[in-house]
Amino acid sequence: MTTLTGVSRAFSDDIAIDLGTANTLVHVVGRGIIIDEPSAVAAQMRGGERVILAVGSRAKAMYGKTPEPIELVRPLRDGVIADFVATEEMLRQFIKRTKTMTGFRRPRILICVPAGATPVERRAVYETALSAGARRVYLIEEPVAAALGAGLEIDGPTACMVVDIGGGTADIAVIRGGRVVQGRSVRVAGNAFDEAIMRYVRRRHQLVIGESNAERIKIEAGTALLQPNDRQIEIHIKGRDLKEGRLKTVVLGPADMADAIAGPVGEMAEFIQRALEDLPPQIADEVAARGIVLTGGGALLDRLDGALSERIGVACVVPQSPMHCVIKGTAAVLETLAERQHLLIGP
Ligand code: ADP
Ligand code: MG
Repeated sequence: MTTLTGVSRAFSDDIAIDLGTANTLVHVVGRGIIIDEPSAVAAQMRGGERVILAVGSRAKAMYGKTPEPIELVRPLRDGVIADFVATEEMLRQFIKRTKTMTGFRRPRILICVPAGATPVERRAVYETALSAGARRVYLIEEPVAAALGAGLEIDGPTACMVVDIGGGTADIAVIRGGRVVQGRSVRVAGNAFDEAIMRYVRRRHQLVIGESNAERIKIEAGTALLQPNDRQIEIHIKGRDLKEGRLKTVVLGPADMADAIAGPVGEMAEFIQRALEDLPPQIADEVAARGIVLTGGGALLDRLDGALSERIGVACVVPQSPMHCVIKGTAAVLETLAERQHLLIGP
């Protein structure tokens, strides 16, 4: 790990980036979050070469709407870069969009990497941000940013646990004295909930639905915990009949939703439970006393906090705007870079 010296205070063109598997957010010092878009790139093969047509929201909107077939590339997988060229182009375009009329200088960038990233994966983020147009690149561990963004005191002597639930992975980290003392990752997160809904309607109703439809159902009607006094909201799901191939509609209630999602919720609970059990007793006690903080878009699943608390026996809480915790924390470090150099990690 390299130590960084002489990091100066934040300039107005410095930017913080949360490069997520599902979404990328960009914060500019003094201006706030100015980009919050899907991590996606629209590409097309032309004469044997891949041409990138658009990135972010524009790429997603373009998909399926052009006369020529286009490919929607997801440049990251499980929190790490899977397609270097696509990631670099996406970052380059996002960085370009942050430039004001007056700011021509290449920005300094603070970007976070998953706590479990290998040195090679970390280096890849560093190099990609540099070639996408940064003047300097600083790295921070994602759970540290998530914890700061959730308002947790991380430099103190008592440990806290953050579970960041993104699209592809849930990342568990225990932080103490400004450092990640335990970090692990499981491939059960937002996408796993979508897939569980797809499997459920297929098994119970012989109905085939697409991933984005399943995601929409999850956001609108999904719930992780059924409560006796629940209003019986019904959701109508359109899809294709598995055997006959014709379009049909089925109606599901909250009990179906909780049932559909129970599998991945249980797996997530077990994984967190195991992480707790593997901690030295004193640290585990500190975590239990402070409660577990859930961040990331996956934490927005209705009553996920309640369902996990019930299974684990430790209170799980969701802070305000969990999807913004990582970028808020990264921005906070960027704005006080000189005083928070101890949080930076080497490429
Ligand atoms: P990443 O860090 O991997 O880019 P995010 O933190 O942006 O991921 O979270 C993306 C996930 O959050 C997706 O699986 C998405 O479906 C899910 N999500 C977003 N909003 C909600 C919601 N209101 N309810 C449930 N899940 C949600
Ligand atoms: Mg994330």
